[in-house]
Amino acid sequence: MAEQVEQLTYCEVHPDRETSLRCNKCGRLMCPDCAVPTPVGYRCKQCVRKQDDKFFSAGQSDYIIVAAVCVIISAIAAAIVLATNIYPLFVIFIAIPLGGGVSELALRLTQRRRGRQTANVAAASIVIGGLVGAVAYMVTQLGRLPSFDIAVRVLMGNFSIPILIGIMAFFAYSRFRGRA
Ligand SMILES: [Zn+2]
Ligand SMILES: [Zn+2]
Repeated sequence: MAEQVEQLTYCEVHPDRETSLRCNKCGRLMCPDCAVPTPVGYRCKQCVRKQDDKFFSAGQSDYIIVAAVCVIISAIAAAIVLATNIYPLFVIFIAIPLGGGVSELALRLTQRRRGRQTANVAAASIVIGGLVGAVAYMVTQLGRLPSFDIAVRVLMGNFSIPILIGIMAFFAYSRFRGRA
């Protein structure tokens, strides 16, 4: 049998795709679809995944701590915003540092361990906490649970609660997404 002049190489995941691109970590051959651009060059999905696993070290208790911190602080903030009837524009200026602050506190309490879902858990907890805090405040004012209509009217009244929890959730989410 005649030897091939040029040895063709193929993607290890897609044997029908010719490629000479190799993962710069493990050296496996990969096609452009399988290659993941990283700050340190093209890597295969397995190596990127392994790197992420090292970064995402959060356990279940870390998620619970993050959720608890976010719910509690967001609930208190929402109740205070309603109680003091802060001008909605001003709410923006307290929501930004609150969103960053709540995530920083949660990161400290969890020794900066994060999971793939930490940012989502934080954002959802802030939204839930804000709604719970706002409803709790209404209960203290009405002496009973507000009707759905009243709750919606108060929540959407001057948009201070949607502004508060929206911005807080956004900044907390971004903070947890960042890798610092
Ligand atoms: Zn690799
Ligand atoms: Zn491939």
